[in-house]
Amino acid sequence: MIGDFEVKDEDLAGRIGSLETRSQRLESPIFFPVVNPLKPEVSVEDLKKLGLKQFITNSYILYKNKLVNEDIHKELNFEGSVMTDSGAYQILQYGSVEITNREVVEYQLKIRPDIAVFLDLPTGNTESYEDAKITVEETIKRGKEALELISSSNDIVWVHPIQGGRFLDLLSYSAKFVDKTPYKFLALGSPTVVMQEYDYVTLIDMVFTVRSSISRGKPLHLFGGGLPQIIPFVVALGVDSFDSASYIIYARDNRYITRSRTYRLEEMDYFPCSCPVCSRYTPKELMEMDKKERTRLLAIHNLYKIIEEINETKLAIRENRLFEYLQEKSYAHPSVYSAFRRVLKYAEYLEKYDPRVKGEIRGMFLYDENSLHRPEMLRHKRFLESVTSKHSKAIIICGDNLSVPFINDPKVRSVLQRHYQDSDVYIAIPFYGLIPALISESYPLAQFELPSEVSEGVITETLNVIKKFLVSKKYDKVEFIECENSKLSHVMSI
Ligand SMILES: [Zn+2]
Repeated sequence: MIGDFEVKDEDLAGRIGSLETRSQRLESPIFFPVVNPLKPEVSVEDLKKLGLKQFITNSYILYKNKLVNEDIHKELNFEGSVMTDSGAYQILQYGSVEITNREVVEYQLKIRPDIAVFLDLPTGNTESYEDAKITVEETIKRGKEALELISSSNDIVWVHPIQGGRFLDLLSYSAKFVDKTPYKFLALGSPTVVMQEYDYVTLIDMVFTVRSSISRGKPLHLFGGGLPQIIPFVVALGVDSFDSASYIIYARDNRYITRSRTYRLEEMDYFPCSCPVCSRYTPKELMEMDKKERTRLLAIHNLYKIIEEINETKLAIRENRLFEYLQEKSYAHPSVYSAFRRVLKYAEYLEKYDPRVKGEIRGMFLYDENSLHRPEMLRHKRFLESVTSKHSKAIIICGDNLSVPFINDPKVRSVLQRHYQDSDVYIAIPFYGLIPALISESYPLAQFELPSEVSEGVITETLNVIKKFLVSKKYDKVEFIECENSKLSHVMSI
């Protein structure tokens, strides 16, 4: 049925999904580039050539300028999925628009996009709680009003924006309320200003608040979320789609987007990219072109980068290494690192949705303190709490020089042969703390790679875990083997 969303793969709290629209099934996470029909620096034809099967445009602009009067697909000669926004962005920019919610909804019913939005009232960047609350209530009211008009249309997926801005309690209230309505596709409204200020910490809080307040089965759109730096982080929390005009706005200003940062074209000597634009021209040649053509080409390059980022994020989900991908991306900029650290604040939430076992098993790469927040590590910690001691004596073998799986290592085998009837045998390993030797073959206890130098922070945390374990299991005697020259040698003084 149109509007149905199916989850096909998951990693952390992110997913690859499939949304049914009238024109086609869309695979998420997905990016909708904003096309402004009045300033078509990048045309619908250009998007088609790039292989894009979706875009978003503004129904208020189409309506006001009488640009489209019937089926938008026919009029714009586009067979893919078209999403139309309502005019809310114009309200953010100009304060108000000369159109009512009813008119916007009826107009969209006439031009029949695949995905449509009623005229919500964006919270924007207001500092006033009372003003923000008004936008929440008014948006909910308009959502109800729209529902009466759209009940007969069953081939458009209608989006309900969630307002509240930086006020997380308002966002949470709004999200919980909207979740109970018949709307199948929800959106986080107006974080544009937060994005422009690179205030990614607030953005992560906003996304988490909304995502954790709505049903897992409903897709979530992020308005204005088009910078490659931040895409994988919000996907990891469960954002399914994005739209943005950043690719074109940046291009007008000679700003060149890469997957990790933004350059000014006039300051570039080389293009670190091999897209058709960058393979064909040098930065100097682009600078010498007339502005219109330069903007178009830069915008096309910028789009390539956004699409690449979405694809790399999807690949990481597929291969179950989204956490490592976030770690890798986090060093792009201190504000991105802050976003990553903020995502880790929600590690329990990520663990809740992270699949336990998935397809082909691959080794985990463990790096530093941040790796301790991986879902697998949280689960292992919980597992250690649940272990019951079978004997009054524990033997701890420091695992620095052992081979994995530990149970097959000759040293471990010989200890087990001698002592499995009188002692509980554990392997001490940074990050994990302790691994019971008898189950050391199971995932993820035998599939990991550690750095040769482990940071002090990780060692301290590992020793804490071991200490807590030994105290709670009340062993009478603990024997240490191979620990004198171990990274975890301090374990002997616990
Ligand atoms: Zn390029």
